[in-house]
Amino acid sequence: MSSLPTVEPRRAEQSHAHIGSDPAIVKMADLRFTWKGPSAFSLAIQDFVLPPAKRMLIVGPSGSGKSTFLSLLAGIVTPNEGRVEILGTDTSTLSSAARDRFRAEHFGIIFQMFNLLPYGSVIDNVVLPLSFSAKRRARAEEKGSVEAEAQRLLTSLGLGEANYRDVPASRLSVGQQQRVAAARALIGRPEIIIADEPTSALDRDRQIAFLDLLFSEVSAAGSALIMVSHDETLGSRFDSVVRFDDIAVAERATA
Ligand code: ADP
Ligand code: MG
Repeated sequence: MSSLPTVEPRRAEQSHAHIGSDPAIVKMADLRFTWKGPSAFSLAIQDFVLPPAKRMLIVGPSGSGKSTFLSLLAGIVTPNEGRVEILGTDTSTLSSAARDRFRAEHFGIIFQMFNLLPYGSVIDNVVLPLSFSAKRRARAEEKGSVEAEAQRLLTSLGLGEANYRDVPASRLSVGQQQRVAAARALIGRPEIIIADEPTSALDRDRQIAFLDLLFSEVSAAGSALIMVSHDETLGSRFDSVVRFDDIAVAERATA
């Protein structure tokens, strides 16, 4: 881990706090979350801040709680204690339906296993988040139809060679699925893109090529990107690199 910057992450972020009127789009404070069960796993996060339009890589070993952290961030799970503030809204106080709407409007999520609808066409998969947020649909339609915007994103991400309207996602290679997952996250320009080890199934050259394409679309959308990975060598391409154990304290009950 010696290649990582040793600056304390929050202080490094504060130097960028001039962007926008509210400097942080994500704040977590005094947070505690426990997965119940025989090997109960807890995360405690005292203070985490992400300013707008930043690309942050969070690195930590497998099993350290990175996916759990992203689930808390996106409101897929809610903390037992503490606050998760996204764009000024404390999402932990929302009803579960309101939290789902909030997530659809403001987050693009690239899951580790991509979570595509296997029988849906590529285009169906890309436009899916727009069904849950009228504002996001309106942004996707600014320059034409949502299908045209889906096709534009697929082309930009390197999937322009075919008409994917009728191709089921289950027929795609891993690299193609990853690009569809990225287009789905980006469509309608959500403020926050989160990516859970999206490159772990690819070889080195393909990882870098994918990140370059992702970054250029993330910049064009003006979104912030938080990616987690166990691979710290990707760090040089990000604005900031943070060790997961500088953000969160993990505890595992040994039953
Ligand atoms: P990472 O993404 O860093 O590999 P995870 O957040 O997936 O780590 O997992 C951390 C720990 O949280 C796991 O070892 C497991 O004990 C627990 N955990 C993760 N997801 C669940 C779940 N859905 N239900 C119960 N426990 C879980
Ligand atoms: Mg994980």
